[in-house]
Amino acid sequence: VSVVNKIAAGEIIIAPVNALKEMMENSIDAGATNVDILVREGGIKLLQVTDNGCGINKQDLDILCERFTTSKLSSFEDLRSIQTYGFRGEALASLSHISRVSVTTKTRDSPCAWKANYVEGKLAGKIQPCAGKDGTTIQVQDLFYNMQSRLRSLRSGSEELAKIVECVGRYAIHTRGVGFSCKKFGDPQFALIVSPELEAKERIRAIYGGSIASNLIELKVPNLEEFGVTALGQVSNLNFNNKKSYSFIFFINNRLVTCEPLRRSLAQVYSTYLPKTSRPYVYLSLNIRPDLVDVNVHPTKREVRFLHDEEIINHIANSLQETLSSVDT
Ligand code: ADP
Ligand code: MG
Repeated sequence: VSVVNKIAAGEIIIAPVNALKEMMENSIDAGATNVDILVREGGIKLLQVTDNGCGINKQDLDILCERFTTSKLSSFEDLRSIQTYGFRGEALASLSHISRVSVTTKTRDSPCAWKANYVEGKLAGKIQPCAGKDGTTIQVQDLFYNMQSRLRSLRSGSEELAKIVECVGRYAIHTRGVGFSCKKFGDPQFALIVSPELEAKERIRAIYGGSIASNLIELKVPNLEEFGVTALGQVSNLNFNNKKSYSFIFFINNRLVTCEPLRRSLAQVYSTYLPKTSRPYVYLSLNIRPDLVDVNVHPTKREVRFLHDEEIINHIANSLQETLSSVDT
């Protein structure tokens, strides 16, 4: 059984960044306004996420890393109106099969924090009282320690770290009202810091630097209501002629997704104005009526599908075209 669990977990968590994403989403689900991340050796040695969210009750710690342990879904109807990232209760269980997981947590009404360690889905040892602030720290250590082939297939520590930083940056751009920091163990020079009160533009400045931030325009897409969609975004203008790839950041119903047809048609609009080598910046957040979209296909499957996608993508591309050409650059 433990081999099966390990293999299943390895399909959900392919690289440290997948683990980090799950942990960040849990922190956001817990209502955190601050999420602090510490990475050691590209996240392979250590991934640590500390938040100031609601914490976990001591009595829930016993089975925390067992499969289907979730506090987020109470009935079948809930599936339609999920407001949280998680709902499967699979992430922590998976992580505990391919790493050493420890959890330190304190709810507001608990007099102290509690610490618990997990191995292969089970609590290992006793739950110990300790000092700690309100919120939760989850440590994932020695990721893939029992999967040598996966370990060997990973990129270098610095490349895995780069993927992590990119992922944190994307959540930080999208998740207003929440502060993020991402630090590298033993390297005080290295830090990505986005404080919670920062507005959209300032978030982008903190993450990507001033040249994008000063070349941003709002993208408004009217007439999407009939498709059950609202859209909000920021895109780089035609003065922004950068060679570095920021690619395209899409959130659909608060989920970081890829949508190749959308990416292609927006890139197409830019390519009519800018040389092929230049890389625009696009952040777009779509909210689609839940019954019209399929985002929860599989934990690692980020390519999203939705109804009327062609018309919707056309609308967005047209709006981009109009916005770019109407701005006096
Ligand atoms: P899911 O997010 O699908 O519920 P997870 O395996 O990611 O499943 O987490 C299991 C449960 O652990 C969550 O439902 C939540 O109750 C609790 N949990 C995990 N991380 C945190 C956190 N940072 N703060 C509070 N509770 C957490
Ligand atoms: Mg989760």
